Amino acid sequence: MSFHTLQLIDPLLKALSNEGYTTPTPVQEKSIPVILQKRDLLACAQTGTGKTASFALPLLQLLYGQKHASSRRPKVLVLVPTRELALQVAESFAAYGKYLPLKQVVIFGGVSQHNQVRALQQPVDVLIATPGRLLDLISQGYPLVKEIQYLVLDEADRMLDMGFIHDVKKILARLPLERQTIFFSATMPPEVQKLSDSLLKHPVKIEI
Ligand code: AMP
Repeated sequence: MSFHTLQLIDPLLKALSNEGYTTPTPVQEKSIPVILQKRDLLACAQTGTGKTASFALPLLQLLYGQKHASSRRPKVLVLVPTRELALQVAESFAAYGKYLPLKQVVIFGGVSQHNQVRALQQPVDVLIATPGRLLDLISQGYPLVKEIQYLVLDEADRMLDMGFIHDVKKILARLPLERQTIFFSATMPPEVQKLSDSLLKHPVKIEI
């Protein structure tokens, strides 16, 4: 199996070759086709398995693979539990999207919102966020999630462990219902299972 077999577009293949990736990891092999088919996905996968590329690559392809009308507002929302993960995910999108007209913004708490708000005044396609700061900005009236077509919950179990469930639910309530949802968690305790059941429509399930 190669990335070529997964039918990724040339700008992504070129970026992967720059990164020195030759073979997809198991989670990538299973997730990429499902996401490209626009199906909801429930994936049980740990950090270190290559999970970030398994959603970043197909989402970049869905966003930029065809001629796209550039819009002002985010189409992809990646919710993550921590600032560190937010920055890591953004780094991955930037690396894989090196040859695409990627417009992304990262927002997280613990720092002034000034620069984040300024970045959000430019057109944005991909928004990577921790729940608290995102909810804060939405509550201030920034229309950040009205046009989301693709939602990723990354490390959902950690998100719940850290007490973000209420913030996450408030954010989810404001998202368009018509969207594709991708749910990643290292573990599937009942509370996480319940959240995934409430969010996903006929998901493909994979376990690594
Ligand atoms: P992640 O599980 O997303 O945190 O990724 C773990 C590490 O694996 C990151 O440093 C990636 O850059 C790297 N990685 C992801 N996919 C591949 C691949 N197909 N080949 C080689 N390295 C990879």
